[in-house]
Amino acid sequence: MNHSGGAPQLLPQIRRLRGIPQPCEPRCPHAAIPLFVLAFAHRAIQLSTGRKTGYPQNAVLTPGPARRSGYSRAMVTRADIGVIGGSGFYSLLDDAEEIELSTPYGPPSDTVTIGRIGSRSVAFIPRHGRDHRFPPHRIPYRANLWALRSLGVRQVLAPSAVGSLKAEYGPGALVIPDQLVDRTSGRVQTYYDANGAVHVAFADPYCPSGRAVAVRAAQAGDWQTVDGGTLVVIEGPRFSTRAESQWYASNGWSIVGMTGFPEAILARELALCYTSISLVTDHDAGVEAGQGVTHDEVLAFFAQNVTRMRSLVSETVQALPEERTCPCGSALDGIKLPFDLP
Ligand SMILES: [Zn+2]
Repeated sequence: MNHSGGAPQLLPQIRRLRGIPQPCEPRCPHAAIPLFVLAFAHRAIQLSTGRKTGYPQNAVLTPGPARRSGYSRAMVTRADIGVIGGSGFYSLLDDAEEIELSTPYGPPSDTVTIGRIGSRSVAFIPRHGRDHRFPPHRIPYRANLWALRSLGVRQVLAPSAVGSLKAEYGPGALVIPDQLVDRTSGRVQTYYDANGAVHVAFADPYCPSGRAVAVRAAQAGDWQTVDGGTLVVIEGPRFSTRAESQWYASNGWSIVGMTGFPEAILARELALCYTSISLVTDHDAGVEAGQGVTHDEVLAFFAQNVTRMRSLVSETVQALPEERTCPCGSALDGIKLPFDLP
């Protein structure tokens, strides 16, 4: 779908996880029309642009009129907490439904699954798409975070697989980093790239409240828990050379991954809480003596631990505060934004 010309059309199609067939071309607006009609009968949300501009980055996404579809706002699908993670997390959610969303930045990685964990409403996006079609440098990061915020999400958990740069954190350790180093290149890392500069504080990139909750949940789940540490995010998709990895380790950095940035800064730019939950799958090349990690090894290890990770995310979601008292929600206070946030 091309959003580069005119005001983006933001007609989400909704379908139940079960019972409504998948469209052959889920991202084609024409193929999606019958789905939308079907979904209309079940439940509807309407997101529409508020202003016309020629550029996606200037577009405004706001909830549409409450009764536009004939349903009250009370029935509009919303979520408080967002989880961006791997496909093993679907079974977390009760009463799950799928929503297709478009944003001014194109569609998210995949349909957004919305459901409940205990009393909390959760929106889930598979970061790489359900079929893992997006490599780390091609993930639609801006669309993913924008979609979550437009659904009402204000707190985001980001489970991911990482390599360890420290001998003492082996496979199975769980790191809740408190710092980040960006070694990516060429990724769009801001929403504010036109109509004035917006400088957002990022000294502490992660939500202190979300971190504390995740650490407690990990400790309660008997994980080898590392409270704090620096995640270095590399461009990928290749893994690090041994020299690069040794350099990262010599700086005192703890873990290395490929997706934690720009996810973290985009969350901050939308005043969202963002907490990385990083599962160590291997020692990175600079730490181990062998040939370094392979992609298959990473996936296999993650698969072995996905049940535990699901449990950890579930516990963390339920322990997150209902009302935010952390600074994340004030990240944009006093800053004149070029457009309204969803
Ligand atoms: Zn926060």
